[in-house]
Amino acid sequence: MRNVAIYPGSFDPITCGHVDIVQRGLNVFDRIVVAIAVNPRKQTTFDDDERVAMICEAFPDDPRVEVVCFTGLLVDYCRRRGIKTVLRGLRALSDFEFEFQLASMNRRLTDEVDSIFMMTSDEHFFVSSSLVREVVQNGGDVTGLVPEPVRRRLLARFPPPPVT
Ligand code: ADP
Repeated sequence: MRNVAIYPGSFDPITCGHVDIVQRGLNVFDRIVVAIAVNPRKQTTFDDDERVAMICEAFPDDPRVEVVCFTGLLVDYCRRRGIKTVLRGLRALSDFEFEFQLASMNRRLTDEVDSIFMMTSDEHFFVSSSLVREVVQNGGDVTGLVPEPVRRRLLARFPPPPVT
């Protein structure tokens, strides 16, 4: 499956930075599999079903985008599905170091799967799921940083603090 890429991550929750990578990825690949890495030992703000729902809401009725959850090694999941390409986004130098390590480890595990990277857009270089959660938890506005349905779910999860 050469025209398919897998875009793995935590997506807790999906942000406009992630959406941008998927949209631009679709200029290169026919299909993108957005794959939520499920780690039972890692506490997340949104459970698997909520994270799947939020990604589906971000790409309504687009048959080119598939959303899945996987456990275990990404390369094993790719092999099971016959997927050869991993798509990742790069924001800053700090991302580069981690992504370089991850891609090198994956190549060490298998030569059947390779990684490609897309640079973040100007509007999204500072956007991360963790920072977005922190801003909302402290009553800040994340309009335009996450898809609107995600913003609503964040507000429901972290109601604004009373003004003092
Ligand atoms: P992880 O928990 O594995 O870091 P994330 O869900 O945070 O996964 O991100 C998945 C991928 O999307 C990673 O390659 C990450 O660098 C990339 N990414 C996250 N936010 C942005 C952004 N604002 N712009 C571009 N790429 C991003």
